[in-house]
Amino acid sequence: MPNSQRLRRGLMLIVSSPSGAGKTSLCRRLMADHADLDLSISVTTRSPRPGEKDGREYHFISDAAMDDLVKNDALLEWAAVHDHRYGSPREPVEKALSQGQNVLFDIDWQGAQRISAKAPSDVVRVFILPPSMEELKRRLYARAQDADDVIQRRLSRAKGEIAHWAEYDYVILNDDFDRSYAELVHIYHSETARRSRGLWIAPFVDELMSEPL
Ligand code: 5GP
Repeated sequence: MPNSQRLRRGLMLIVSSPSGAGKTSLCRRLMADHADLDLSISVTTRSPRPGEKDGREYHFISDAAMDDLVKNDALLEWAAVHDHRYGSPREPVEKALSQGQNVLFDIDWQGAQRISAKAPSDVVRVFILPPSMEELKRRLYARAQDADDVIQRRLSRAKGEIAHWAEYDYVILNDDFDRSYAELVHIYHSETARRSRGLWIAPFVDELMSEPL
């Protein structure tokens, strides 16, 4: 069967964790290694951190622009996180999925809940846990991209994020990057294989069985 006929609806892979648990590094590596995976680039009203580029990590937008997106239903979900609003633009996600691409979301538990409620069978949710609160703190300070009070607030919110771990399909304890990455890749490959089974393997088997012996 030619590849063009194997098109299937892509899956939405949602990865959440408290800031500093290593989620972004894991997601970046997964993206770099998988051409069939697109990143959903969120919009946010927060300012860029040093080294962040508009359109790469986020689309950095004004409060008024965010109001418009919400009003026009242009976001698949949006939420207030750390005093700013964040949202996942709808159009690029729908386009990627309809072309059979999978889409990766680096979003919080609120976004995970909202997207899962809308499209439960297209979603796979992964939660990344830090090995300890001490390590989380160390990583946030080592990153040193935020002011002390911002880090303190992120730490106090970390427990609020972790409290939602049980709503996820998979949980990865990120005590070692390579091992955690291997686990994430296993999850991704298994889940994409499971979907192919439903969407194009059945007609393919029908075709095989209809051939005379
Ligand atoms: P940061 O400001 O550190 O980049 O992100 C803060 C938090 O916002 C992270 O937990 C991140 O996953 C979450 N986040 C980023 N984009 C979105 C989004 O589009 N929707 C939701 N619900 N959360 C997001």
